[in-house]
Amino acid sequence: MKFYEAKVKEIKQETSDSYSFIMEIPEGYTWKAGQHVLWKLHGYTVPEGDKDTRVFTIASAPEDGFLMFTTRITELHSGFKDVLLKQLKPGDIMEVATPLGNFTLDAKDYEKTLIIAGGIGVTPIRSLLRDFMDHPVAGHEVTVLYSDDRGEFAFEDFWKELQEKVPSVKMNFITDRDQFTGKTDSFAKENGNKAEYLVAGSPGMNTAFTERLTGLGIEASNVKTDIFMGY
Ligand SMILES: Cc1cc2nc3c(=O)[nH]c(=O)nc-3n(C[C@H](O)[C@H](O)[C@H](O)COP(=O)(O)OP(=O)(O)OC[C@H]3O[C@@H](n4cnc5c(N)ncnc54)[C@H](O)[C@@H]3O)c2cc1C
Repeated sequence: MKFYEAKVKEIKQETSDSYSFIMEIPEGYTWKAGQHVLWKLHGYTVPEGDKDTRVFTIASAPEDGFLMFTTRITELHSGFKDVLLKQLKPGDIMEVATPLGNFTLDAKDYEKTLIIAGGIGVTPIRSLLRDFMDHPVAGHEVTVLYSDDRGEFAFEDFWKELQEKVPSVKMNFITDRDQFTGKTDSFAKENGNKAEYLVAGSPGMNTAFTERLTGLGIEASNVKTDIFMGY
């Protein structure tokens, strides 16, 4: 597998336990907003039984001018994440493979988009909306339901900039699960199949919301999920 070398520029704490790793874009490296990729440690080893690679979404868009992944590192964490938390520093290299995936926002074929994001599942949404910020489609409304049970939201500065620049994107920061499902239901009842529905969260959350939406009469083809395995 071909890997590119990306130099780490900055490590930014986003919430009490999530961190963004910001890197220079290697020469010749390209990706599309919403894609994910295999990252590999360079010059660091992990304990036996762990792997030196992980799949993370590219949380930045090409328009950002940098590569970034954002990950949650809880108190008990893998050897891989221990290197990210305690050893990796600006100037180091992360290796990055060729990106994969086709999780996109379709502003041409739909009047509206509802984004349903849970916790660290928001990473591809940041990328898609960063792209949309530079290429908004007139008349296309985007409603974002971003839920975190602890009320800790990543990328705060970005959401502020996005709402200032593109008022047709409506952000909702949610900490209550009933509100999360309630707002989903009322949007689906009001907009039905005129809208597309992007669901980005844990596998359990994605299944629950997909079933909820299809139960409300939304065609499965209008519900798109980005599945994070293993967290
Ligand atoms: C398409 C795709 C995109 C993805 N994008 C992202 C992304 O953008 N950001 C992201 O964070 N993840 C993303 N993931 C998930 C990611 O690949 C990892 O699976 C996930 O972050 C878990 O990492 P980890 O294995 O290092 O475990 P950790 O996160 O370190 O731990 C996972 C769980 O195991 C427990 N645990 C870990 N080590 C120990 C231990 N020694 N003893 C006891 N318990 C322990 C932890 O408490 C935790 O509950 C994505 C996955 C896919 C498939």
